[in-house]
Amino acid sequence: MDNRTKEAIRYLGYGRQEADEQTLGLVADAFRELDETAKPRSIYRTFELQWKQTDTIRIEMMEIHSRNLSKNLKGCRQVVLLCGTLGIEVDYLIKRYSYTEMAKAVVMQACAAALLEEYLDERQEEIRTEMKKQNLYLRPRFSPGYGDFSILHQREILTLMEASKKIGLTMTESSMLTPTKSVTALIGLSTTQENCHQKGCEVCGKKDCIYRRES
Ligand code: SF4
Repeated sequence: MDNRTKEAIRYLGYGRQEADEQTLGLVADAFRELDETAKPRSIYRTFELQWKQTDTIRIEMMEIHSRNLSKNLKGCRQVVLLCGTLGIEVDYLIKRYSYTEMAKAVVMQACAAALLEEYLDERQEEIRTEMKKQNLYLRPRFSPGYGDFSILHQREILTLMEASKKIGLTMTESSMLTPTKSVTALIGLSTTQENCHQKGCEVCGKKDCIYRRES
């Protein structure tokens, strides 16, 4: 079973249980359709990171107070802001199925979430390769909404990145990203190598790492 299928099955709540043949078939169909429909786009940019206090950082006009994020970025002087989306076409596709075949819409939601993660992982690998040339190493990506990093900062990130103009990514009054299958994230740049696990601290074996993200 490939990684994206495993992830989709996990999002569907199967845990360690085996997904039945019918579900696996629906997942395969959903990925096929999503691959044809999605128009993934992303942007990233490096910013200077200013430390105001132990738990408060500043990136241009954005000031963030978060103990969890500060711990993750400890020792970093620069940070990458990353915005990525699968495009509005995926929202339309899921909506269409939610009117006609609810089971398929649910599976498609899970598959789209897995596809978005896969896409961001790939983008992150490209950034890793690029930064390595400058002897900089990536910390795991950290999104608004993780721990005590407020979701409200998403608006400032979108503004800083001109995400609306560049990749059509905006947000609603209630802080929901539009298109919905989108992500904003920070990735700390460090001069010391931590070999951060691509999937983040939760699955990383370095249990004694001082930058470990608390869940
Ligand atoms: S625990 Fe692992 S993934 Fe998390 S910061 Fe440390 S090395 Fe990176």
